[in-house]
Amino acid sequence: MANIVAIVGRPNVGKSTLFNRLIEQREAIMDDVSGVTRDRHYGKAEWIGKPFTVIDTGGYVVGSDDKYEEAIREQVNIAIEEASIILFMVDCNTGLTDLDKDFAKILRRSKKPVLIVANKADNTERMHASAEFYELGMGEVHAISSANGTGTGDLLDITVSHF
Ligand code: GDP
Ligand code: MG
Repeated sequence: MANIVAIVGRPNVGKSTLFNRLIEQREAIMDDVSGVTRDRHYGKAEWIGKPFTVIDTGGYVVGSDDKYEEAIREQVNIAIEEASIILFMVDCNTGLTDLDKDFAKILRRSKKPVLIVANKADNTERMHASAEFYELGMGEVHAISSANGTGTGDLLDITVSHF
């Protein structure tokens, strides 16, 4: 069975930045666009000899508030359907938001493994701030910086251990 890692989370947390850091073969990206809410990008990656596919589920939560829930559900459903493991990304610069809690509510019902990834932990202060996300009650918080690479190796070790 294929190993598929989906990155989900609200817009601007850094999903595409991590995606771009993980994928090695840009030519392998398929631009799968079949309507706004199912827009997502696939890339090929490998860690310690284990190949996998990464899905960047896109940040299309736009429009009125009442559309949020629907858009989140759609994004999360794609991840749950296709992924072997889900990286739920949050942002330690902005901290926990209501939208993060909405994602968490839906992800908690998933039977797939979910790792909380607290991105933008660029420095020690932000690293400490990531502890706030334990409040989600979804287990260990993995602090990383997609921008400078801090913590991404440890995150990948844990991710591929689920394959
Ligand atoms: P997405 O909407 O979740 O795909 O988020 P993007 O990957 O487009 O990133 C949103 C913004 O956050 C961009 O300006 C990125 O440069 C910035 N960003 C992403 N990762 C990091 C990080 O680890 N640290 C910091 N400081 N900024 C980041
Ligand atoms: Mg994006």
